[in-house]
Amino acid sequence: MNATERALVLKVGRFREADVWVKLLTPTRGIFNAFAFGGSRSRRRFVGCLDPLSHVLFTIGSSKRGDYTILEEGSLLHNFPLLRKDSVKTGIAVNCIKFIEAVEIEPSESGSAYTLLLETMTMLEKGGGSTGFVPWLFRAKLAFDMGYNPDFLVCGNCGEVVGTASGYQFGIEKGQAACPTCLSSGKPLEGLARPITAGALRALDWIQQSRPADWATVAMDQEVRRQCSQLVELFVAYHLGLSWDNGMYKKV
Ligand SMILES: [Zn+2]
Repeated sequence: MNATERALVLKVGRFREADVWVKLLTPTRGIFNAFAFGGSRSRRRFVGCLDPLSHVLFTIGSSKRGDYTILEEGSLLHNFPLLRKDSVKTGIAVNCIKFIEAVEIEPSESGSAYTLLLETMTMLEKGGGSTGFVPWLFRAKLAFDMGYNPDFLVCGNCGEVVGTASGYQFGIEKGQAACPTCLSSGKPLEGLARPITAGALRALDWIQQSRPADWATVAMDQEVRRQCSQLVELFVAYHLGLSWDNGMYKKV
């Protein structure tokens, strides 16, 4: 049976003379491959739809025996021309896509990944976003959306709201902050922990509440940015089992 679904085109390749395979992300199926037979010749069924970084409404079916997925036709919703023309922005989008692929997202979690990627591409297309922020903000936000969602504004021990004092730490494994009072009274965090300033904890809370549109012009104190980005990488490595190494995400 055919279904109509919105999809982001992640990768495209040709096989045989006129046929195309497409790697897609949709809100209900996650990432999967589908075939567009005759796709590279069809002027009518796939106008502008079979390019990476396109947002398309596809009619999706399956082969007679049900062993692979077929794209019947598509209507282009947006092809992000400015994002595609700018190699730096394309690189940011590809980095985000590689992360979603590496996470091996379940269909039940694909709605938030799809929305996050679409909003990120829309923000890049409108002219915002930088390499210094968007990739790690995207990783943080996807991890939070997947349910690894710490409360950065209270001490996980005593429940005290984070103030302005120095001497906070953040425990990666349980995803909780510890206040200087609890730490000095000998209640250390279990497992991997990092010292963190109250300002960085507030910035992490901002990231948690933010949407990609808010990342267009984000600015952070250099030290806050360093602490937040390092903590996000440790958090992602521990909870999602991934780290960025030499242009690829690796299972750790
Ligand atoms: Zn405390």
